[in-house]
Amino acid sequence: MEKRKLNDPYLIERIGITDNMDNAYLLEVGGICPLCGEYLLLGKGKRMNKKYQIAHIYPNSPTIDEIKELEGLERLGTNCEDFQNKIALCKDCHGYYDDHKTKEEYINLLRIKKGLLSTSKAKIAVSHQDLEQEIILVINALSKIDGKTLEKMRLEYKALKVSNKIEDEYALLKIKIEGYVCSFFNFIKETFQDLDQTGKIDFELIASEIKTTFLKCEKEITNKSEIFESLVEWLQSKVVGSSKEACEAIISYFVQNCEVFHEITK
Ligand SMILES: [Zn+2]
Repeated sequence: MEKRKLNDPYLIERIGITDNMDNAYLLEVGGICPLCGEYLLLGKGKRMNKKYQIAHIYPNSPTIDEIKELEGLERLGTNCEDFQNKIALCKDCHGYYDDHKTKEEYINLLRIKKGLLSTSKAKIAVSHQDLEQEIILVINALSKIDGKTLEKMRLEYKALKVSNKIEDEYALLKIKIEGYVCSFFNFIKETFQDLDQTGKIDFELIASEIKTTFLKCEKEITNKSEIFESLVEWLQSKVVGSSKEACEAIISYFVQNCEVFHEITK
């Protein structure tokens, strides 16, 4: 295989990926292969199996064909080992991408990475907040709940306060949160209470962390749907393998419980 032109300053020696960086790539794509949607971690007993690799978007050692194919196209970062030029992909997509790299595939992956980079600013603002392990217990309880229990615990619609906090322009967000609050509020409340009373968690602490994180998000983002999304992603990143829906239900609980969003002043 013919190797890269040596006079291209973008191409530097390969730099290994530390565990920390590995996590950053996994987080960036939300634990899902951005090309095919496969989960990148697979639970096996108590362990999580890595189903992904970190791919170079512009190759580290392009072949002559690749150099021609990608000639003149935009590149991300200052060199090929930059965070911006790498992305987590499942093993299959990585192999396929490296073997059959067309201009279209390159541009597609570049576009995906650019999208991820533009949303990461908001994520970084919240990423150093550390949520207690305790919330995992609530998410676990949430994932095991059955329909009957849920029906018994439904919240009366008139008890909702969500409408006081979300303007009508966010109609879809409002409907989503109201749905979660109606179905899960009482269940989550009781689960938190039980765990708090038996000393397994400190509810006040969790509530204040959620509030702090919300306030940080609010400084970076004004759109309420995006704030909600960021909080959900942040929570999901704390509990590897947790469903987006469970995290949405928890954040919705804190909207109703007043840690997230303020009353609208009319
Ligand atoms: Zn894939």
